[in-house]
Amino acid sequence: MSISASVLETLHRIHRQKTDLSGQLERGPKQIQAARTKIDYCKKVLEDIREKQKNLRMDADRRQLQLRERENRIASLEGKMNAAKENREYQTLKEQIAADRQANNVLSDEILELLEQVDVVHAQIDPAIAQIKAAEGDLVEVEKRVTERMKAVEADLARVMKELAQVESGLEGDFKRDYERLVSLRGEDGIAETEGNCCGGCYQMLTPQMLDRLANHFTVVCPSCGRFLYQS
Ligand SMILES: [Zn+2]
Repeated sequence: MSISASVLETLHRIHRQKTDLSGQLERGPKQIQAARTKIDYCKKVLEDIREKQKNLRMDADRRQLQLRERENRIASLEGKMNAAKENREYQTLKEQIAADRQANNVLSDEILELLEQVDVVHAQIDPAIAQIKAAEGDLVEVEKRVTERMKAVEADLARVMKELAQVESGLEGDFKRDYERLVSLRGEDGIAETEGNCCGGCYQMLTPQMLDRLANHFTVVCPSCGRFLYQS
C-alpha cells in the first residue's frame, strides 16, 4: 500500500502545529495563575511585616509597663529609705534602689532598641504595598495579553483542525486505520521524517529495503519506534 510522502509530511506538520497550539492554550491560564500567585506572595510579605511590627510594639509596651512599675517601686523604696531609722535598713534599701535603677537602665536601652526596630520594620510597609500594586498591575497586563493571545491561538487551532480533517478525509484503507490508531495514541509522535538513513524519531538505522520502499512511496513503519516514516 502506498501513501504519498507529501501527505505524511503534511499530516506531520499539522500534528506538530496542533501540539504547539494546544500547548500554548494550556500555558495561557498557567501564566495568569503565576501572576496571581505573585500577588498572594506579596500580600503575605506585607502581612508578615505588619505582624512583626505589631509584635515588636507589644514587646516594647510590655517593657514600658515593667519600667514604670519599677519606677514606682523605686519611689516607694526611696520613701522608706528616707524614713529609715536604722543604718542597716537604710543601706539595704539604698542597695535595692541602686539595683532597680540599674535594671531600669538596661530596660530603657532595650525599649529604645525595640522602638528603633519598629521604625525599621515600619519603613518596609510602603515598599511592600508598592510591590503588591506592581504585581496587581502585572496581572492585568498578563490577563489582557494572554486573553488576546488565546483568541488568536484558538482561531489558529480551529484552522489547523479543519485542515487536518480535510487531509484525513482523503485517507483510506489499512493506512487510514493504522494512522488513526497511531495518532490517537501518540499525536505528532506517530509520524517521523527520515534523517539520512535513520528514523528521525528514534535514530534507528533503516535497512536498504526500507529506504527503497520509502523511495517508491510505500508505507514504511519504523521497526524500532513504530512511527510512520516519510522522506521529503
Ligand atoms: Zn523510529
